[in-house]
Amino acid sequence: MTDFIPFALPDIGDAEIEAVVSTLRSGWLTTGPNAAALEREFVEAMHPSAHVGAAQVQAVAVNSATAGLHLALEALGVGPGDEVLVPTWTFTATAEVVRYLGATPVLVDVHPDTLNIDLARAAEAVTPRTKAIMPVHFAGLPVPRGALADFAAAHGLRVIEDAAHSHPVDSEGMPVGLGTSDAVVFSFYATKTMTSGEGGMVVSADPQLIARMRTMRLHGISRDVFNRYTSTAPSWHYEVVAPGFKYNLTDVAASMARVQLTRSVAMRERRSAIADHYDSALAGLPLRLPSRPAPGTQHAWHLYALRLTDDAPMGRDDFIQRMSDAGVGCSVHFIPLHHHPYWRDLRGADAPALPVADAQFARAVSIPIFSSMTDAQIERVGQTVRAVLEGRS
Ligand SMILES: *Cc1c(COP(=O)(O)O)cnc(C)c1O
Repeated sequence: MTDFIPFALPDIGDAEIEAVVSTLRSGWLTTGPNAAALEREFVEAMHPSAHVGAAQVQAVAVNSATAGLHLALEALGVGPGDEVLVPTWTFTATAEVVRYLGATPVLVDVHPDTLNIDLARAAEAVTPRTKAIMPVHFAGLPVPRGALADFAAAHGLRVIEDAAHSHPVDSEGMPVGLGTSDAVVFSFYATKTMTSGEGGMVVSADPQLIARMRTMRLHGISRDVFNRYTSTAPSWHYEVVAPGFKYNLTDVAASMARVQLTRSVAMRERRSAIADHYDSALAGLPLRLPSRPAPGTQHAWHLYALRLTDDAPMGRDDFIQRMSDAGVGCSVHFIPLHHHPYWRDLRGADAPALPVADAQFARAVSIPIFSSMTDAQIERVGQTVRAVLEGRS
């Protein structure tokens, strides 16, 4: 039996290990110089000088994307009675943060090609209570920024992008993170495209939003109020202005993320080469392969998400079992939110059907795509998919 190829593995090298060890030796473990440097470098990596309006862009390091999404919604004033448009094709974190604030996520169906939120369906879901939309760039393929901005303007909505899958990529010629959305949130979770174990980043060009998120990230302690008094106040003095959260990123994690950031384009290019290999290795099989980005837009290839077609000789669950028996780990992204008991009950029995997500879920399977895969592993994954679908494995 050959070695099992896991579905995902982080790509951690000696430089990350040395950075963490050096932080441990420094004596400063929690939020400090490394987190501050990561915030600066994260914005710099988006080439701000090349883009209009990018000068004001700032980043707030947090201990997860979930925390970042929560902070962004809180800073925008989302609260009880508000509705927020969320694709049903996502991880529960995107919607749960809306509930943290007592608001209601309204689940929207996705486009069958991209599995991204379908803006035509989103338009039908808008009500006078709708306050914001939270698009997810599924698998790393951006929701087209122009269409998204037009949609938000037409309906007067705030936009918080869930970019947990999509660092670092361009959308219509400009990096995801820059542009007209109120906030863009990235994840550094262990399986994501760059990692600090747990961590995340919120990016915004709105200075008031940034200030509120910085305050709420750490117990509602206001640095602005604090600074106003630092010339006269004693060094132990600080002011609490709100019941904030504990969402700060440690320097241990930030030092790992700083190294990952320098490698993030190379890691994306490796995943992109894996996707190219799969596209040709899997051609002609009863599969719908992932959509390709339009010119000017990139794919982060966080996931390589396939759909079995009607002429596949087996169902999705059977396919995943056979892949596992042949030594390849697969997964499913995502179980639509409205299939989970909590979200099903919250929507109620009369909620509109989400037929595209229902149909695509039955066929969806993600195969391994991570930058530390060897050439031999990549080839074996492609050959195993073919062997399973041709009844040879
Ligand atoms: C992973 C993920 C999140 C949450 O990221 P964390 O950093 O683990 O909080 C949110 N949205 C999507 C789409 C994700 O895949």
